[in-house]
Amino acid sequence: MGQSSKYGHIIQYIKSQFPNQDFIPLHEPRFMGNEKKYVADAIDSTFVSSVGAYVNRFEEMMQEITGAKYAIATVNGTAALHMALIVAGVKQGEEVLSQDLTFIATANAISYIGAIPVFLDIDRKTLGLSAERLEFFLQQHGKQVDGVTINSKTGNRIAACVPMHTFGFPCEIERIAEICNEWNIPLVEDAAESLGSYYKGKHTGNFGLLGTFSFNGNKTVTCGGGGAIVTNDICIAKLAKHLTTQAKMPHAWEFNHDYIGYNYRMPNLNAALACAQLEQLAAFIENKRELAENYKNFFEKVEGIEFVTEELDAKANYWLNAILLKDREARDSFLTEVNSNGVMSRPVWTLMHKLPMFQNSLHDDLTVSKCIEGRLVNIPSSVRI
Ligand SMILES: *Cc1c(COP(=O)(O)O)cnc(C)c1O
Repeated sequence: MGQSSKYGHIIQYIKSQFPNQDFIPLHEPRFMGNEKKYVADAIDSTFVSSVGAYVNRFEEMMQEITGAKYAIATVNGTAALHMALIVAGVKQGEEVLSQDLTFIATANAISYIGAIPVFLDIDRKTLGLSAERLEFFLQQHGKQVDGVTINSKTGNRIAACVPMHTFGFPCEIERIAEICNEWNIPLVEDAAESLGSYYKGKHTGNFGLLGTFSFNGNKTVTCGGGGAIVTNDICIAKLAKHLTTQAKMPHAWEFNHDYIGYNYRMPNLNAALACAQLEQLAAFIENKRELAENYKNFFEKVEGIEFVTEELDAKANYWLNAILLKDREARDSFLTEVNSNGVMSRPVWTLMHKLPMFQNSLHDDLTVSKCIEGRLVNIPSSVRI
């Protein structure tokens, strides 16, 4: 008793939201629609690989959902981001401005190119890249030379900006897009977590040159593994499609390639699953927002815990619900008690600049990121049946 039952009422409440489940995972997929039908159909068609009707249909559905003119299906979200950075023109040795609090894939995709990630701080409210910190960094270090922005300290070109919509909460994307425009820096949104999230009525991923999504097993909508790139620029779209399909030049039988391409196209088998899942996106989001509303009302009455909510201009998908505890000690005792009682909860990712690969990276002072890292915990967020 005493210390060991400190969070008993929270455990009970979370369990009440997922009745008839002994163990409550953080986020599990739901297959309640045409999944089996479409996957079986893809198998019957023999088109299980990177050519097939479902891949094309998936791209059309993504265009419809995001409002972007073009969508390109990829094998996963990390590949989508890697490709987006390539077609945005990022080259080895150039700098890419992103955020310190993110999933490792953001920083990895930048590193695949040999580009240098610069980890800026996040905004306290949105948990995504801080527009203020971005602007401050550029005012301090940015220098425009012939329409290109250079980091005056390092002499490197600042080749892109990659904000991430953390847990599906839209970041200050309109302001970030304005700043990127002013400095002529291509904006690539890592929207992996924010399918179904909007900022001022516009879908995330659609504010800059490119946006990328993930359909990994733990995301709002999954196809096992998959990703998507969206853009409104036809040249960018064509290049992305070309480079994700081994840069093969169209011909009835000849094999000719004009670039070093990638085998990054989503297989039709996965696309079949993705199409069935996307059909349920609106219902999933409604379901998830209802859970978030319940959590919000519950945590309002819990002292010492803050439930993270969307900002006024934003409509979040509430992919992963998040709470903030008082400090790291409270966070750790919460994690210990909750996880040992059949309710899965997890801390946020270790900050990028602390990881061995990025120890010598360029970064901001990171006051907010450090504070959030020690306090944030994700709690069960699956669609409820
Ligand atoms: C999931 C995720 C990715 C990568 O997606 P995969 O499909 O797993 O490769 C990239 N960025 C962020 C922020 C993610 O959460």
